[in-house]
Amino acid sequence: MQTLPTPSPNNTSDLTSPDSTVAAFETTIRRRKTRPVPVGNITIGGGHPVVVQSMINEDTMDVEGSVAGIRRLHEIGCEIVRVTVPSMAHAKSLAQIKQKLRETYQDVPLVADVHHNGMKIALEVAKHVDKVRINPGLYVFEKPKSDRNEYTEQEFQDIGTKIRQTLEPLVISLRDQNKAMRIGVNHGSLAERMLFTYGDTPEGMVESALEFIKICESLEFYNLVISLKASRVPVMLAAYRLMVHRMDELGMDYPLHLGVTEAGDGEYGRIKSTAGIGTLLADGIGDTLRVSLTEAPEKEIPVCYSILQALGLRKTMVEYVACPSCGRTLFNLEDVLREVREATHHLTGLDIAVMGCIVNGPGEMADADYGYVGKQPGFISLYRGREEIKKVPEDQGVAELINLIKADGRWMDP
Ligand code: SF4
Repeated sequence: MQTLPTPSPNNTSDLTSPDSTVAAFETTIRRRKTRPVPVGNITIGGGHPVVVQSMINEDTMDVEGSVAGIRRLHEIGCEIVRVTVPSMAHAKSLAQIKQKLRETYQDVPLVADVHHNGMKIALEVAKHVDKVRINPGLYVFEKPKSDRNEYTEQEFQDIGTKIRQTLEPLVISLRDQNKAMRIGVNHGSLAERMLFTYGDTPEGMVESALEFIKICESLEFYNLVISLKASRVPVMLAAYRLMVHRMDELGMDYPLHLGVTEAGDGEYGRIKSTAGIGTLLADGIGDTLRVSLTEAPEKEIPVCYSILQALGLRKTMVEYVACPSCGRTLFNLEDVLREVREATHHLTGLDIAVMGCIVNGPGEMADADYGYVGKQPGFISLYRGREEIKKVPEDQGVAELINLIKADGRWMDP
């Protein structure tokens, strides 16, 4: 598990403050102010670092397999692990999974995903996990009627009443245990009455979340995290932005869980997730995230951290600055960057630049702590910040870089 820095206070300013125009030109992201929501020993929102989540693939009935899967994810930095609970037997199995985690590892914060008409399952699982995720489109599931072409105001309200009655016991249970709930709207599973009333739109997604939030608030339960995921990035962006707008209007400060659903796999899955999640985070929106890849869940965690690191929201690895190389490059940049990375990747917190030449290299290596810059054929120069420290033969470059970091007292053994 990696140790993570606490956010700087200027990361928690209000986006809607009068100086938000100035904020747009700042180089530090100003995060939207949200309330802190406890999920086991982790807090989502309230200025805490953006929390990384993922989900195991194991069947929750497989206690041993699930415990191993949760532990595997937690050990590489997944701070809240989600499990799916399709039946009452699965919900009961969570009691054993939690117990086993406490006995053999630690009390990893768990969130249980409850689907179709999951009221009884949710009530059971709420006893065993730290957070319950419900999908408003499925929690009280009315089978769509093919001959229906409208919802009357009365019908709309009747279902609303049924939702309230069904949700109430879960809300009370979570409230009394100081646990959390995610109201997780999915574009692909909006309730039929929302589709008829608002269309297949971000507005329908937001109203769906607000309906559930208002029920929770009427029962004085505020440990809520909201998500509005879609597989299309522009839809997801619009839904989250509209949600922030509506929450601001209503004086709500619930944290947001970001994600692009069904992002796929490989390079495009990562780019799609980054386009959606990163865009919102850059605007100060979002308190926790999951990158959903059609790959092993362990593959999701590095992507989450890379997004957060690139935006300066969390620092969990060395930040490498490297030029793209050109005709002026004095050594094989790819090889050298790989060697430097292999030697220094464990020095979390440092920024290290590898630049091909002294013409533009020193000026363009930003504010890196150390620089490795091509000086003349066969020689490189090592920099501390903007100061050139020494010229060394290229074949000693990496070793001398390590010596310099050691001399500065900033080296740690891997
Ligand atoms: S730093 Fe030098 S070698 Fe690298 S891209 Fe710029 S000009 Fe080319």
